[in-house]
Amino acid sequence: MNLRPKVIALAQGYRKAHAPLTPERLAGGIGASLSYSKLPEGKFGALVPEQNHILVDQDSPPKRQRFTLAHEVMHVLIQQDDDLLSDLHEAYEGQELEKELEALCNLGAAEMLLPGEVVDAALAKKGQSPRLIPELAELHQVSEEVVIIALAERGPTPSIVLMAGSKPLRVYFSAKHPRIQGRVSRGAGFRRNDPLVIAFETGLPQKTKTALPNHAVLYSLEAYPKGGRVYAVYKELQN
Ligand SMILES: [Zn+2]
Repeated sequence: MNLRPKVIALAQGYRKAHAPLTPERLAGGIGASLSYSKLPEGKFGALVPEQNHILVDQDSPPKRQRFTLAHEVMHVLIQQDDDLLSDLHEAYEGQELEKELEALCNLGAAEMLLPGEVVDAALAKKGQSPRLIPELAELHQVSEEVVIIALAERGPTPSIVLMAGSKPLRVYFSAKHPRIQGRVSRGAGFRRNDPLVIAFETGLPQKTKTALPNHAVLYSLEAYPKGGRVYAVYKELQN
């Protein structure tokens, strides 16, 4: 049983049925109303099922708001799909189920806003490079989160993809290939001599073998600093 292809198919179907996916059409496709308001720190969106209403953080940039909205729509689409829901409950429970559901809604949201074929074509042309994150985000007018999710999912080598920023450097957003076990949490920090910190402070791309915060294993890292952020792809080392 594989949940991911089913979630991607759901998202593709939704995109085709409701394109162009303006915020109003995104919410309207599931018959939901939409409003923007202040949400608790670290929360970007919420679903009010009793009212069929989606709340989106008013302070996020518009592209991030659109991704949040697509994520909340995915919650509804998954909730309405009995087969998918029973598969999900069969495979996971408790906190793992929550995490997996969030990852699946992210996956679907990314597919709605940035078709998988577009990402595959970019990967074939340019390889699994962190440069693709700002490039594809700009080219297709989607948030960087969307590209990060798609690259982690579709990259030929299993990897963790993330962006970091601020001082001291911390993780803003990350996504991982399903085959990779460890997760990187939002807000995770780095040692002072970490290659990501070096990329951030010198403005120079880095290519090296390194571990992630709180991970024991080594990855092949490519880091690309741009516009006050560092984009990174940590690829599983091939034997
Ligand atoms: Zn969610």
